[in-house]
Amino acid sequence: MTTINTPERRQLRELTRTFMTKEVLPHLDDWERAGEVPRELHATAAKVGLLGIGFPEEVGGSGGDLLDSVVVTEEIIRSGGSSGLVAALFTHGIALPHLVAAAGTGTESAAGDDLVERYVRPTLAGTMIGALAVTEPGGGSDVAGLRTTARRDGDHYLVNGAKAYITSGHRADFVTTAVRTGGPDAGGVSLLVIEKGLPGFTVGRRMEKLGWHCSDTAELSFADVRVPVGNRVGAENTGFFAIMQNFAAERISLATQAYATAQRCVELALGWCRDRETFGRPLASRQLVRHRLAELHTRAEAARSYVLDVATRVTAGEAEMTEVAMAKNTAVAACAEVVDAALQLHGGFGYLRDAEVERHYRDQRILGIGGGTTEIMNEIIAKGMGL
Ligand SMILES: Cc1cc2nc3c(=O)[nH]c(=O)nc-3n(C[C@H](O)[C@H](O)[C@H](O)COP(=O)(O)OP(=O)(O)OC[C@H]3O[C@@H](n4cnc5c(N)ncnc54)[C@H](O)[C@@H]3O)c2cc1C
Repeated sequence: MTTINTPERRQLRELTRTFMTKEVLPHLDDWERAGEVPRELHATAAKVGLLGIGFPEEVGGSGGDLLDSVVVTEEIIRSGGSSGLVAALFTHGIALPHLVAAAGTGTESAAGDDLVERYVRPTLAGTMIGALAVTEPGGGSDVAGLRTTARRDGDHYLVNGAKAYITSGHRADFVTTAVRTGGPDAGGVSLLVIEKGLPGFTVGRRMEKLGWHCSDTAELSFADVRVPVGNRVGAENTGFFAIMQNFAAERISLATQAYATAQRCVELALGWCRDRETFGRPLASRQLVRHRLAELHTRAEAARSYVLDVATRVTAGEAEMTEVAMAKNTAVAACAEVVDAALQLHGGFGYLRDAEVERHYRDQRILGIGGGTTEIMNEIIAKGMGL
């Protein structure tokens, strides 16, 4: 029995699959067309105990760790969901951890427990939606160079600037926002929780994208938005460190989405090649096709094993950031190859909206961009090699 295959995790897999079959799969195409998932889905996911996986019960979560979140993510995609759905429904996975980590730290903002009550609990109960805003129109890879400012004005900050490509930004009730409160580098960044509806806070139109259609994405702008100091997450100028700390979990999640998408596409291609006949025989009977499927299966399974190994060590606090970066790049590259080949094996049907593989083909493209691009991962790996 491996750590990922315990009786409890098999149960969690079953729970996720039931949720997907009953609550998601009959509606996913409609949500893809609508450009977002309904708010009620968050409450339903919370009710069955899925939304809070990976968050401690003391803050309203369901308990469990990163590996439990991996199981949920895997099963959502392998049961016919999508990485876009994971992004939309589990945005709190990137919006809340900093608030939870800061709870009870007794910083000047006294934010800790208060932020948990006001934002973490309602979000994990599915009655609020949160987003994380780091990227700006001027750049996303250079987090330490962000330009949105928060100037102290008594017991408030005055926030000015803009954020781009923010997942769930259109639906979010609050946004955990990276701002500059200090000097021009990493040491001058703080996190503020900014509520929708504050004067000067504008949510732009829903951005149209290549993939992740059921996940709303927005541009946000701030013009003299007055945010209470109590909405600061942790101590002033510690935001960069908080963002970096949570990148490991975010990157493991993206890597999981990548290998699970690859696995799902192998299954789809397998089914198609068994049924589809060309020149009087099923495609799967041709050695060329059989060997291609074997290669794709191997690629997906190898990526899974590697990501699970790194995820297990991240959970135990043993993995370096370089390993997480290598895991993400490995899974993303495997996914890109597998999804492309799976679509090709579907022939013309693979190019149609009716084909599930078509959605994965579009959805997978973001996995090497979001949460740190493939090039930025390579930079981390190179630094780890002493280059
Ligand atoms: C659908 C979607 C959802 C997203 N959700 C969120 C979200 O919820 N919150 C959030 O904050 N952001 C979000 N992002 C933003 C995402 O994290 C950024 O797009 C990403 O970090 C890259 O930043 P950028 O787009 O500004 O590219 P840039 O930083 O401008 O980079 C452009 C290109 O240059 C390369 N590059 C940059 N620097 C170097 C270097 N030193 N050496 C070599 N190559 C380099 C990059 O790899 C990339 O290929 C989302 C983006 C998308 C498309």
